[in-house]
Amino acid sequence: EVLLSLKNISKTYTMGEVQVEALKETSLDIYKGELLVILGPSGSGKSTLLNLMGGIDRPDGGEIIFDTRPLTNAREKELTLYRRRDVGFVFQFYNLIPDLTAAENVALAAELVAEPLAVDEVLRDVGLFERRDHFPSQLSGGEQQRVAIARAIVKRPRLLLCDEPTGALDYETGKMILKLLSGVREKYAGTVVIVTHNTAIGGMAERVARMRSGQVVDVSVNACPLPPE
Ligand code: ADP
Ligand code: ADP
Repeated sequence: EVLLSLKNISKTYTMGEVQVEALKETSLDIYKGELLVILGPSGSGKSTLLNLMGGIDRPDGGEIIFDTRPLTNAREKELTLYRRRDVGFVFQFYNLIPDLTAAENVALAAELVAEPLAVDEVLRDVGLFERRDHFPSQLSGGEQQRVAIARAIVKRPRLLLCDEPTGALDYETGKMILKLLSGVREKYAGTVVIVTHNTAIGGMAERVARMRSGQVVDVSVNACPLPPE
């Protein structure tokens, strides 16, 4: 069953005289409950595609459908609600608010939705309950990323979008974060999309979409994804 369908999506950025065709009539379906990795070199259009999936930006052409709801010509207000309620974002550079504690960062996100999860439960799930009163500067990179994941899932999003979530972390910490995202998906029966240029991460997913020059050029299924040990 398809949760999010992208059909013939194109996106061009204009900077003065220069035009960059970031996406060229490309299509991708994301299935309910899956963990999909979108793999491609820098500049291939991954972040652009993720931003369109999350309603952060709109395509110039094509159609995006979220669970039967077309997003492509949704009103701005509807798109804002979509971003707030249906989608959780995890970025490479955590984006935590520095003068709020871990628990306060998560609680702030919880306020965006009517029926959030309990902040302490989510912090326990990501293994940070004991650090709930620490500020971001007092946490390691891996711990900050776990707070960012807690902040995204406390809203019970139906779709969790992660842009290079392990990009700033060492290999072992990165694997731990992937394992966490996979566990989170199982517990909350959500759908997780991870964008990365790291081929090792592609090997750990069930399904991998490869991007090159603004297009999804290949989608493959890993029969036996490596357990992220
Ligand atoms: P690349 O994939 O080439 O390494 P990045 O992932 O650094 O590029 O950035 C791609 C796009 O994603 C940027 O244009 C930026 O708008 C967005 N982005 C990256 N990191 C963040 C972040 N922490 N917060 C918000 N947007 C981000
Ligand atoms: P990736 O995430 O795979 O690195 P991006 O989606 O960030 O790829 O970028 C795809 C192409 O679009 C690149 O050539 C990049 O330079 C360009 N691009 C991305 N964001 C912008 C922007 N805000 N303005 C202009 N060009 C951009």
